[in-house]
Amino acid sequence: MSTQKSKVLIIYTGGTIGMMQDARTGELKPFNFKALTSQIPELEKFDVSLSSISFDKPIDSSNMHPDVWVKLAEIIKNNYSKHDGFVILHGSDTMAFTASALSFMLENLAKPVILTGSQLPIGIIRTDGKENLITAIEIAAAKIKGKPVVSEVCIYFEYKLYRGNRTFKFNSEHFDAFKSPNYPALAEAGVDIEYNNSAFFKTTNKTLKAHTQLSNDIVVLKLFPGINQNITKAILQTKGIKAVVLETFGAGNASTEDWFINELDLAIKKGIIILNITQCNVGKVIQGKYETSSKLKKIGVVSGNDMTFEAAVTKLMFLLGQKLSYAKIAKQLETNLRGEVTV
Ligand code: ASP
Repeated sequence: MSTQKSKVLIIYTGGTIGMMQDARTGELKPFNFKALTSQIPELEKFDVSLSSISFDKPIDSSNMHPDVWVKLAEIIKNNYSKHDGFVILHGSDTMAFTASALSFMLENLAKPVILTGSQLPIGIIRTDGKENLITAIEIAAAKIKGKPVVSEVCIYFEYKLYRGNRTFKFNSEHFDAFKSPNYPALAEAGVDIEYNNSAFFKTTNKTLKAHTQLSNDIVVLKLFPGINQNITKAILQTKGIKAVVLETFGAGNASTEDWFINELDLAIKKGIIILNITQCNVGKVIQGKYETSSKLKKIGVVSGNDMTFEAAVTKLMFLLGQKLSYAKIAKQLETNLRGEVTV
């Protein structure tokens, strides 16, 4: 049996976990990694070899950007062979976007990449950050017969481990900030960490590939009763767009008014991908179930099935970045690439 300690790399991007209150303004602002770790003496006691990389300027995750995802994917790729797992400290606001993006960018991932953060800064006595970070490290370090237990991009928050590209932030007040309504939790931490092995994404022996081309030529069209024709038209005719995330009602339904369908049809004929995502948090798009979605199907709107909004946006960014044909992108959108969609 190997007695080698697991090696975990912590990547600190910012977020509330490392924030401190500005004495003058009272605002919470990101602080440096040293200040964060000095609050967690428990890290010294870990039977894990920890190393860290900190952003020079930690950010509030509302300033997250695809360029930062590229930086993260490159850090993981460059440190992949030297570590057994990765923990990314990140603000919770856009954590589900980062987790989804990285899941697509890191093809053939066979090691854990666990994103975590907190709702209260680490310096506050009641912080949720300590437990989140400590358990995230434990999960990133966990091995069975020399192989990582988890081998996908996940979010660990408030005792639950989720597949990252199935999550969204649903609560800005409670410690229990994330939900994964269309896919079960991958683990639950109680006295022991109970893994839900049957829910894990299948690993491969292929070499890790970090895709670093992303395109943000995307718009989002969220429907509401009475949506304005001129504005809809202006959105769909935005110069340079390559894809539209269409947020529809219920099981993927939309108005059957001629002007609306015609505008969508026009966009599709110009080669713009339209991806249908439901505004509901639970359930999926089933184009053709109702009369109000049959027309969408007929003109070539692509079904996003049960994908989250976060997965839809980042999957489009990833696929558009590959410079694939329209038909290939449409096909890949309906294919389960990283466990993001139930097919
Ligand atoms: N605004 C913070 C951020 O996303 C919130 C948090 O960390 O929970 O960076």
